[in-house]
Amino acid sequence: MKPIAEGLWQIPLAPKESVNAYVLGDVVVDAGYKASGKKLVKALEGRAISAHTLTHAHPDHVGGSKRVVDAPGVPFWAPAGDAAAIEAGRSVVGQSRIRPLVAATNRFDPVPIARTLSEGDDVAGFRVVDVPGHSPGHIAFWRESDRVLVLGDVFFNMLLPRLKPGLRDPLTFVTPDIAQNHASQRKLADLEPAIACFGHGPVLHDAAPKLRAYVNARS
Ligand SMILES: [Zn+2]
Repeated sequence: MKPIAEGLWQIPLAPKESVNAYVLGDVVVDAGYKASGKKLVKALEGRAISAHTLTHAHPDHVGGSKRVVDAPGVPFWAPAGDAAAIEAGRSVVGQSRIRPLVAATNRFDPVPIARTLSEGDDVAGFRVVDVPGHSPGHIAFWRESDRVLVLGDVFFNMLLPRLKPGLRDPLTFVTPDIAQNHASQRKLADLEPAIACFGHGPVLHDAAPKLRAYVNARS
């Protein structure tokens, strides 16, 4: 576990921080692929965990969740707009020529939901922000006091599969509404975060001007 800020840790689950989970206080956010679940549970050993939640219901974030919540006393909190996908074990995919292929690999173990999260809810001192587009119910976690943002896949900070760090849009074939995701990127840039934590890629410090420049370059 890598300390990022007060009460915030990063748990890299794949080489070069290409897949990340985070711990906010005593809440685990994201769980990597199904194969990452074991590594994540091991990294959490000896820590009191009160709940597990997600930025969004894609197999590289919810895949390890079943294993995390199978630990006794860990309820699962789902992004409200992705709750149906989580209970079905299959998320919404983007439009592309390889859609059938993506859909076929887009399954995961369903997870029972104890609570749903949406805009304004509090998670371990972070405020939930609705940022749909990359998934219908995608959420981010924002702490205004020290301007820390855990933003899932609204931005990538890595070019996959080359594992080269740098701000990017999320992959289009897993992003059902790209225009809506662009609006969500702007919403997050407007928060002017000092630290941005990504589902894919390294943590970004002095993030505000970099996110702003990225968003403005498109318009
Ligand atoms: Zn995703």
